[in-house]
Amino acid sequence: MNSDILKNSISKLKEEKDAIVLAHYYVDGDVQEIADFVGDSYYLSQKALESDNKIIVFCGVHFMAESAKILSPHKTVLMPDSSADCPMAHMVTPKEIKKAREDYDDLAVVCYINSTAQIKALSDVCVTSANAVNIVKNLKEENIFFIPDKNLGQYVASQVPDKNIFSNDGCCPVHNILTKNCINEAIASNPDALVLAHPECSFDILEMADFIGSTTSIIEYVSSSKHNSFIICTEVGILHQLNKEGKNKNFHLFNEQQVCQDMKKITLEKVYNSLVSLEPEIHVNNDISLKAKTALEMMHKLA
Ligand code: SF4
Repeated sequence: MNSDILKNSISKLKEEKDAIVLAHYYVDGDVQEIADFVGDSYYLSQKALESDNKIIVFCGVHFMAESAKILSPHKTVLMPDSSADCPMAHMVTPKEIKKAREDYDDLAVVCYINSTAQIKALSDVCVTSANAVNIVKNLKEENIFFIPDKNLGQYVASQVPDKNIFSNDGCCPVHNILTKNCINEAIASNPDALVLAHPECSFDILEMADFIGSTTSIIEYVSSSKHNSFIICTEVGILHQLNKEGKNKNFHLFNEQQVCQDMKKITLEKVYNSLVSLEPEIHVNNDISLKAKTALEMMHKLA
């Protein structure tokens, strides 16, 4: 089937099956086009919660679909390719959390939403890159174990210097690959461009950035900026929305490594197949789901 036929068929199936399609900014542009809502993890988790549809088709990686299922256990949550998984979500272990709890009496375990349900269940509160600083600031605990992204943890620590914030050794391989050298080269080739960076980048890169923010904040920044040239330090999929919002503006990426291979596993064909077969469906163990829900709800409350 060609992509126009696929798009039409998906649109009919959505109506027929009472389904809503949610897509992250990092999936392919074609998939973003057929989605009812496109956004970052926080926005999509809100949309999943608010939706009245019986079926949610989550076009993103596993932890996102899992979070939707945890927040809406009575809904059917489908993932067009259930092998699309975020490697960073698995970079912290329950043992490390247990050890941190033993080491500090006054400790909050703060987990980035890019984590497995099992890790959320062991945490006090979830955060996203958009709300992490505010939520950590407002916690009463002085010691914060920020998991599983040491880069975002270091950024939060720089914004909340009065707390003792430490992390496990985890990071996003797509953002962590960006080096000072590649930014310097991009700046040399585009001296008028502003550097916009996602806080999953290493602190070296963040120190060179003109603006640091979540995917949504980067898109909003470009829309309202008078500048017309930007060096983008995040995953390539964001260009689809940036090109829509920032018509006639120039965006510079570094190389083909700014691609999240897991996000790219979601294709139009797989979305179509998923709506036809109502598979693969996401399930979360009941006990884990209830505990993880507390951490997610705490985020929605504090954010
Ligand atoms: S871009 Fe990085 S953090 Fe996001 S899903 Fe891919 S690997 Fe995970």
